[in-house]
Amino acid sequence: MRSGYSPVLINMHAVIPASRVNGPGRRTVAFFQGCQRRCPGCFNPDTHSMETRELYAPDEVFVRHLRPGVEGITVSGGEPFLQPVALGELLKIARRNYSLSTVVYTGYAYDDLCAMPECVSALQYVDVLIDCAYIEGMKEMTLLARGSTNQNFFFLSDRYSVADFYMPGKAEIVIGADGLITGTGFSRLMRPQ
Ligand code: SF4
Repeated sequence: MRSGYSPVLINMHAVIPASRVNGPGRRTVAFFQGCQRRCPGCFNPDTHSMETRELYAPDEVFVRHLRPGVEGITVSGGEPFLQPVALGELLKIARRNYSLSTVVYTGYAYDDLCAMPECVSALQYVDVLIDCAYIEGMKEMTLLARGSTNQNFFFLSDRYSVADFYMPGKAEIVIGADGLITGTGFSRLMRPQ
């Protein structure tokens, strides 16, 4: 693990270096570890535990995983805003050091995040926020990149519009350099936020 850029560490579930079904274009996807909501039908229950899984310095995400042609980072989980300071550091580095766009999925409502100062600090580096927890009975049936229709898109910069969030498919199989096979996207293969 690298050190020295930031003393803040991320408790990370997994990082996918390049995906086309987690927001506009090719994106690195960082899944934060830890969520206490226990939404029925959550496709990623392995992210729920609050135990430490793998610690990353924020810049380490890019040093280890950034690939050519990636236009942005998507942060999902788990609940990214349970680690608001580390999230803010990650997003700030993405923008300032790598000129990446930033998309974040959260189970919180946007208004609730705006009432928490540490979360507001992280929000200043977010291009698009998709808020509210997954509701199993409101599953998104189109190719729009959200798990359920109660979730809202907040375009916090002018970089994207809702048209950019229609994906080429609902799910994707990723084969890592180590041969590990991972499913991602918005189908039974993996998670909604
Ligand atoms: S759907 Fe999202 S908010 Fe709900 S339990 Fe799963 S990770 Fe947490």
